[in-house]
Amino acid sequence: MRSICAMRSLLAAAAATAGPTVLRAGAFPPRPPLLSLPLRRVRAAGNMLGAARSASAAAQSRIGGEAEVRASLSGEIHVIVGPMFAGKTTALLRRVQAEAGNGRTVALIKSNKDNRYGLDSVVTHDGTKMACWALSDLSSFHDKLGVEAYDKVDVIGIDEAQFFDDLYDFCCKAADCDGKIIVVAGLDGDYKRKKFGSVLDVVPLADSVTKLTARCELCGCRAFFTLRKTQETKTKLIGGADVYMPVCRQHYMDGHIVVEATRIVLDIDRSTVTAQALK
Ligand SMILES: [Zn+2]
Repeated sequence: MRSICAMRSLLAAAAATAGPTVLRAGAFPPRPPLLSLPLRRVRAAGNMLGAARSASAAAQSRIGGEAEVRASLSGEIHVIVGPMFAGKTTALLRRVQAEAGNGRTVALIKSNKDNRYGLDSVVTHDGTKMACWALSDLSSFHDKLGVEAYDKVDVIGIDEAQFFDDLYDFCCKAADCDGKIIVVAGLDGDYKRKKFGSVLDVVPLADSVTKLTARCELCGCRAFFTLRKTQETKTKLIGGADVYMPVCRQHYMDGHIVVEATRIVLDIDRSTVTAQALK
């Protein structure tokens, strides 16, 4: 991988020679996973960091010297959390597509553990779809993409981030060292309301954290938690509305009691059947 120093020299030279650049949005095709729009070099020239900043990009490139170039290498991390059905994936896709519309090269990653809608795309509960990389771990992203393609990526979206154990290290390196903008979407808590995977671990690294809420399936109030409807007890159980529902605090407490009581009854039934079978 190209070193930061080498990058800075390269970009300083680019910034010195680059004139004002006009940004234009491009169409957003569903494929390929790595979306390359024509103005990738705009950011490399040190004059584009965010949509809000793009208007002053040309001015910055004229004023700027190495200081601006150095600043442009700093990445960002944005974290979107909440219970299931809160619109996290929708918010992620919206953000990533907006970045692509601003001329950035974007890539979307999801866990290959979640194959509910196939492995080649991220799909929201309302059917919005975008091509993605389905990976077992984030550390393999760089190798899968290759050095050249990785260097061209400006924005990396990560969906269902709770399934990636190496989330912290990946975000650190991608944002701090490689200057990427990372948008992380995932469950902050599991069905027991305990932290899920490493999503909360990246909060101290983040530029922004957004906690979304859903609607309680039982009363329509704001839902902060995910209630598992089944008796399954393993943490990583992939499922949709058949297994989980978003609930408010009161209905989480009520529902949890009902689910626990049912589990105890079923356990007693099971042990009774086993005991009778052994007689
Ligand atoms: Zn409720």
